[in-house]
Amino acid sequence: MPKIAEKVTVIIGDIVVQTVDAIVNAANNSLLGGEGVDGAIHRAAGNELLEECRKLGGCPTGEARITKGYNLPAKWVIHTVGPIWRGGMYREDEMLYRAYQSSLELAQKYDIRSIAFPAISTGAYGYPIEKAAGIAVRSVLDFLRETDKINNVIMVCYNQTAFHTYSEALLQYSRQ
Ligand code: ADP
Repeated sequence: MPKIAEKVTVIIGDIVVQTVDAIVNAANNSLLGGEGVDGAIHRAAGNELLEECRKLGGCPTGEARITKGYNLPAKWVIHTVGPIWRGGMYREDEMLYRAYQSSLELAQKYDIRSIAFPAISTGAYGYPIEKAAGIAVRSVLDFLRETDKINNVIMVCYNQTAFHTYSEALLQYSRQ
């Protein structure tokens, strides 16, 4: 496997227990918490996370914001907003690609070396998992080709299907 792809690992697990510098939250535009991975991160981090999020005033789709991790093992939480799947004609691919890029740009700015991502947009936001996996992996690998600061990216999948799909995508795109 080429060197860049060696920095990326796909695992099955819960993102809130990852011991990395930053975990990424698949948030919504309000940044005020929600279901799924967002709810799990807020529960594990504690109420101070919500208080800090309130001060941020939301986040447009495809962008990212950073807060502290509070009770999480991770020092930082990077909140990004993936697109809601609406059939593919509303720049969903570009927005999902941007969500990963924006998160990594912020990570680099904060000297974050290790970062864990959930499968952004593949839950309540309804993105087809194979499409989402391809875009996620492509966006991460494109970024890692441009910088050597971030040396560990973990793609945290919540079930077997996601794990196989993201693993396949990593194999496929790392050959290109
Ligand atoms: P979105 O609104 O971006 O679709 P969701 O939280 O609904 O966000 O789902 C995104 C992905 O995160 C889904 O694949 C879901 O299975 C997964 N997920 C939910 N909880 C966790 C968790 N604790 N750790 C990692 N992944 C999770």
